[in-house]
Amino acid sequence: MLEPRGAVAGLTAYDPEHIDARINLSANENGYGLPPAIRERLTGLVAGLEINRYPDPGARELREAIGARHGVDPRSIAVGNGGDELLQALLLAYGGAGRTAAAFTPTFVMYDIISRTTGTKFVPLARNEDYDVPVVAAALVQTTGADIVFICSPNNPTGNTVSREAVAEIAGATGGLVVIDEAYQEFSRETVLDMIGEYRNLLVLRTFSKAFALAGLRVGYMIGDPEVVENINKVRLPYNVNVFSQAAAASLMRDPGTLPEIISEIISERGRLASAIGALDGYAVFPSQSNFLLVRCAQNGTDIWRGLLEARILVRNFSRTPGLENCLRITVGTKEENDAVIGALTALKRVGGSGI
Ligand code: PMP
Repeated sequence: MLEPRGAVAGLTAYDPEHIDARINLSANENGYGLPPAIRERLTGLVAGLEINRYPDPGARELREAIGARHGVDPRSIAVGNGGDELLQALLLAYGGAGRTAAAFTPTFVMYDIISRTTGTKFVPLARNEDYDVPVVAAALVQTTGADIVFICSPNNPTGNTVSREAVAEIAGATGGLVVIDEAYQEFSRETVLDMIGEYRNLLVLRTFSKAFALAGLRVGYMIGDPEVVENINKVRLPYNVNVFSQAAAASLMRDPGTLPEIISEIISERGRLASAIGALDGYAVFPSQSNFLLVRCAQNGTDIWRGLLEARILVRNFSRTPGLENCLRITVGTKEENDAVIGALTALKRVGGSGI
């Protein structure tokens, strides 16, 4: 059998730990789903779609709706089959042999995986103990000679944001591209989108998968210099976002209905869940600006993860990731789901005795 390229042979396929559970809090989706009125509106779109035709390869309507929402020229916007695809397109266009990508770790693993699958060298740069990017971040980026730097803000899985000052310093110091991954921006309400005019090498990634509750439709977008967008368009497949996904995402951009209220509810539940878990012995909760909490367990994190799974609650286990020893990432769910997590962790504490 033919072997794959060397860069692929050493990889293991990304495992999103898709285990069936009563309560899935492992993928940072919006557990509330769309408000019924929006669901109905999107369902109504289906009848009018020409699904015998290919989608608009330029996704004009969707890019215009995104542009109108953010006050940016549609020529500065690339859309993809989820944010992941845009990360891949960016690396196809700007990465490859002889090119280097860097990211401050621990962070979203796809930067590393997509770098390697596109033949791009990946350099992890260490975050501080509190998971902030170090003060010397700009100098570190310069030293590595990175062509592309990924900064996730709020960072997955640690939940903290990067300061605008750090972004300005890094973007000002490097001749390469700087991607600020704002997949969870709606939960932090901080953005660097307004800095794009000042730093031509700055790109902002957003997705419909999290706050906008469309993970199943796979739509993401990247905003940046039109020249970079043009180069992304050269490498992405022509019909990458399907007809329904384009129409639904555009409709949601034009009119998000009561989604902002759901986002506020998630932010408020985040505070409640963090306080409740933090009040239990044996768990340290890191501050989060996102829709998930990073929780460090005093005892073996995998045991706690297993205990939650026995209660049919699936969370993400990072216990074996360097820098995240015994840590679990718990998506903030609905009130009932969060109550179930609090109940299960409390029960586990009883079983575990004083150890946790
Ligand atoms: N960036 C970050 C930080 C993420 O956590 C995710 C989803 N897990 C993505 C990008 C990509 O999301 P999607 O492909 O669903 O748009």
